[in-house]
Amino acid sequence: MSFTLAPLPYAYEALEPHIDVQTMQIHHGKHHQAYVDNLNKAIAGTEHESKTIEEIVAHAGSISAAVRNNGGGHWNHTFFWASMAPNAGGAPSGKLAEAIDAAFGSFDAFKEKFNLAGMTRFGSGWAWLIVKDGKLDICSTPNQDNPLMDVADVKGTPILGADVWEHAYYLKYQNKRADYLSAFWNVVNWAVVEERMMAAM
Ligand code: MN
Repeated sequence: MSFTLAPLPYAYEALEPHIDVQTMQIHHGKHHQAYVDNLNKAIAGTEHESKTIEEIVAHAGSISAAVRNNGGGHWNHTFFWASMAPNAGGAPSGKLAEAIDAAFGSFDAFKEKFNLAGMTRFGSGWAWLIVKDGKLDICSTPNQDNPLMDVADVKGTPILGADVWEHAYYLKYQNKRADYLSAFWNVVNWAVVEERMMAAM
């Protein structure tokens, strides 16, 4: 089996002005496509050909760097596209809002801690909101690792992720990662994040 790149669940320009159309075209059409193509090359003729992407990333510590990086890249980006939507953002509600308040004190305190995780990830990586032992937690990972991987410092089930690689923001925000992370909150699909939380808890 080989992996394929699914179309975005919305138009490339749908997240304007927060995430610009050119960034989305290159990020999805070039970067994510390259992870898929390189993953397929790396697993060709190996035992990984019969595995799901979840099975591959779960065993990141015992697979080649090419499979770990490109498999993580494929999983992370598929998850990331679904974490965003046009006409989204704002504040979460319902059970998710309650869980965020319980874990972090308030929605603003949560955003501050998540932004800090993204800002303090040196180089390339991801900031995550995860379910860990039935509670919400925040962590970050380097490169294309994620909290599902056996090698992760903090393991859990991701329910929201922000890509903090420069390719995710440089065309519009240049070196200003903080401005990109501020804009990210305008496109978070809280309905999907809540569904993921309910499934994980
Ligand atoms: Mn990316």
